[in-house]
Amino acid sequence: MAKTVSRRARASTRLKQLNYRARARIYLKDPLEAERNPRLYGNVVVSRDSLITTGPTSSRFIVIDYDPQTDRVERPARSKLVTAGTEKMLEFPYRRGSPQEAQVNAWATAIDTLDLFQQALALGREVPWAFEGSRLRILPHASCEPNAFYNRDTRALHFGYFYDAKGRIIKTSLSHDVIAHETAHAVLDGLRPFYLDAHEPDTGAFHEFIGDLAAMLSLFRDSRTVVEVAQGDNFGDLVSSLAPQVGAGLYGKADRNFLRSARNTLTYGEVRDVVEVHKRSQVLTGFAFDVFEAIYHLRLEERKRKAKGPLTRRDRVAALLVAARRNMVRLFVRPLDFLPPGSITFYEYVDVLLRLDERQYPNDPLGYRREIRRVARARGVLPPSSWKRPPEISNRDLLLRDINQIRSSRVGAYRFINANRPLLGIPEHVDFRVVALAKNLRESDDGVIPPPETFIQYVWDQYVDAAPAGMKDECLVLRPGGTLVVDDNVNVQFWTPQFYDEPRVTQVMGHVQRLLGVREVDTVPRRHTRSDRLVEALREQPSGALALRLNTSLMHRERGRS
Ligand SMILES: [Zn+2]
Repeated sequence: MAKTVSRRARASTRLKQLNYRARARIYLKDPLEAERNPRLYGNVVVSRDSLITTGPTSSRFIVIDYDPQTDRVERPARSKLVTAGTEKMLEFPYRRGSPQEAQVNAWATAIDTLDLFQQALALGREVPWAFEGSRLRILPHASCEPNAFYNRDTRALHFGYFYDAKGRIIKTSLSHDVIAHETAHAVLDGLRPFYLDAHEPDTGAFHEFIGDLAAMLSLFRDSRTVVEVAQGDNFGDLVSSLAPQVGAGLYGKADRNFLRSARNTLTYGEVRDVVEVHKRSQVLTGFAFDVFEAIYHLRLEERKRKAKGPLTRRDRVAALLVAARRNMVRLFVRPLDFLPPGSITFYEYVDVLLRLDERQYPNDPLGYRREIRRVARARGVLPPSSWKRPPEISNRDLLLRDINQIRSSRVGAYRFINANRPLLGIPEHVDFRVVALAKNLRESDDGVIPPPETFIQYVWDQYVDAAPAGMKDECLVLRPGGTLVVDDNVNVQFWTPQFYDEPRVTQVMGHVQRLLGVREVDTVPRRHTRSDRLVEALREQPSGALALRLNTSLMHRERGRS
């Protein structure tokens, strides 16, 4: 008996010993910015993980470095145990310019991006991937082309490299913005797998927006970048210009030295018929950037009132920290858990964002909501006055209110939803299914720990005749449903139902027709080869209906054109 205990004790000590943090030297923006400002290249610390090892590999990511251009498998970066202060830490030393540099850089940046979503201030829970298994693959030298993408089927982030006009190599796996953007695609796919469906134009654009938002917000997770941004005269240049080195490599430094700018003036009205997802996404990215700037200025004014003197750099850093690390994360990232599962429009997202803010701050004490509404109105993304919010659900009317049963499994949650069909507006005859069930543990941005929330996502299939879009004898499948959020007493905290009524189906048909018009739909089913169209039509079994899916491997090659 004594022997068993001591063996267990030894094992537990061993586990503690293996549970290290890791230190990695990375580009906080990219090699071009680091050349201009050496402070933007430095060490970051990756959170504690018992599975960090050669690769680098950790519990959620694995780097696989095969370069198909040279047909070489590069040696994986090896860890070394070092002492930093009083703490023992893992480190991955590498030579600058070596393949290992790209391995470590992409790995550490991806971990940090996942953390941006999972942290207690945002979702407050672990996000699953959209595929079986806990590790997302990172391919730092995936191809010789100016492209980077996430792909669910390969379970990987593919980072390409290319050469600029002067013959210098540019690796997308060294660009913070590109890595954060692609990791965010994977995170959103894990949270809302149907958002890769392409029957509504905003959904793909929303994917792009979340990618750019993650690139923008994860920059602020490092204090050095916060200081750099705060001392620059022009707030936000570093933030709003996305992937400057990749952009310069592609277009030269003329008048266009970055891929996309969050600082734009596009409105929703201007992109209403635009099929291309990046162009469309810029409306929401611009909206988020405007809100960020507005909140930053509100915080500065508040400090001015308190300080009664001129603002110092420290004031600006503090205002930026709160605005970027707390307020923006709460306002823009937290809504992800409350969105409907099937698809998303800009109005639906902005409405959830506003509803959550109203719930937390009914009186808008800092004036944030007033600013958000002003900016949203200017961008054209404020839901119109005719917008109908879902009806309130009275908790007294809910049946089978047993949180343990609901949380026990998707079947348990199904029983609860099924018992309340009439209240939730689920038609009697449809065979709905619970597609996700999760519980969070959060911290709100004013430091309070709110009670946990349980999220239930349910959808059903709605088949619509695709003839109006120009597809004869074909049916399209849409996914109406909803997200229901309850507390531990099964009181409804939030509900976002989604229905496809006549007008919405007509809009879907209009969009599909436009996609067909620009020949962006691939109707030939393929396996193991990449389609060269933006949208693939996949035939579902056993219904035989078509589901339109975005081809993520092509989404970013399109970038050059936008
Ligand atoms: Zn993207």
